[in-house]
Amino acid sequence: MPGFEIFGAEEKEQILEVLDTGVLFRYEFSEQRRGIYKVKEFEEKFGAYTGAGYAQAVSSGTAALKVALKAMGVGPGDEVITQGFTFVATWEAILEVGAIPVFSEIDATLNMDPADLKNKINNKTACIVPVHMLGAAARIEEIIEIADQAGIPVLEDTAQAAGGHINGKYLGTFGKCGTFSFDSVKTMTTGEGGMIITDDPKLHTEMSEYHDHGHDHAVNPGGRGGEGRSFIGFNYRMMELQGAIGIAQLAKLDSMVAAQKKNKHRLKESLSLIPGIRFRELMDPTGDSATFLSFSLADSDHRKRVGKVLQENGAAAICWVENSWHFYPKWEHLLAGSTQTRSGWPFTDPGGKRRVVYDPIALPVSADLLDRTLVYPISIRMSETRLQDMEEAIRKAAEA
Ligand SMILES: *Cc1c(COP(=O)(O)O)cnc(C)c1O
Repeated sequence: MPGFEIFGAEEKEQILEVLDTGVLFRYEFSEQRRGIYKVKEFEEKFGAYTGAGYAQAVSSGTAALKVALKAMGVGPGDEVITQGFTFVATWEAILEVGAIPVFSEIDATLNMDPADLKNKINNKTACIVPVHMLGAAARIEEIIEIADQAGIPVLEDTAQAAGGHINGKYLGTFGKCGTFSFDSVKTMTTGEGGMIITDDPKLHTEMSEYHDHGHDHAVNPGGRGGEGRSFIGFNYRMMELQGAIGIAQLAKLDSMVAAQKKNKHRLKESLSLIPGIRFRELMDPTGDSATFLSFSLADSDHRKRVGKVLQENGAAAICWVENSWHFYPKWEHLLAGSTQTRSGWPFTDPGGKRRVVYDPIALPVSADLLDRTLVYPISIRMSETRLQDMEEAIRKAAEA
């Protein structure tokens, strides 16, 4: 799962190159930096790797979502459909631009259910944000078709699925844009950091300007101080050290995924012993980034029994209805509409009217599915002893 497992000489060399110039800022200092532009190089390499063409580096995956939504013009008065099973960052970004998150059900892919998405589209829907959760693809082609018919742009939250693809087409390149996170537990990491990819040069320019206070980045005699501004922005810049680590990590991404696939395959084989087990539906097993292994049982009781034996034998698996950061009924601050803002924004409008109330039982299909599902994070490095211990625990769980 996390790229920090394989930090090595490559990352060190990249970082030292930056420190040797003394320039940590991605712009300016043209003489001092001696041609070294790490963030720019990382963007170019990431855009080429995914096949998107354009890439905008930012300070986090959450910032990537916000910058992308801003560039697409999403704001107050809009609704954005995402899934109820995601990391909180997805809805934080939607609320942060002033729009309202609407949650869809998930299906056997553990990602957005296209049929439920259709039900939730209305004339306020300004964007659809499917999330490629736990390393594997949503039914993205179907989702795009529905979105196209409705004339609504799609932003793929690809934070958990860098390196994933469907028939060779990289996740994040199906929609109008795709966002990535390089936080410390993601497949490839820069500690903190994010990226937005797109094939649309205009959108790319908007993102580049918004993420840097509105700087138009036009070459002019006055340098950075002389740059113009078209609209109000903010600061979500990535710094050179992160760009440097990103270059080294991206070069290792394919080998990370390959190692994870091997470990995942091994555990999947032994899990097959559990009666009634069903593995998560994969759109393209070849394109699975294999950062997680998800499996479901017939009912919640069986999941609890299996989960207990696995835990007692040192091979605990995650159940997302118990883990509080990935399924919305557990987000008490969202349900309560808690905010620091005096007016209550974004849950309450400045006139005192509540804008949205979330019902914790609004997604029964997702709740049932997640209550029957267990998940193993897959590491890049799993020792033979560790794998054998897990296999032993799984054999015992098969009798639970
Ligand atoms: C990690 C994550 C994010 C946010 O990324 P950060 O870099 O931690 O801000 C967004 N969406 C999903 C699905 C994530 O897993």
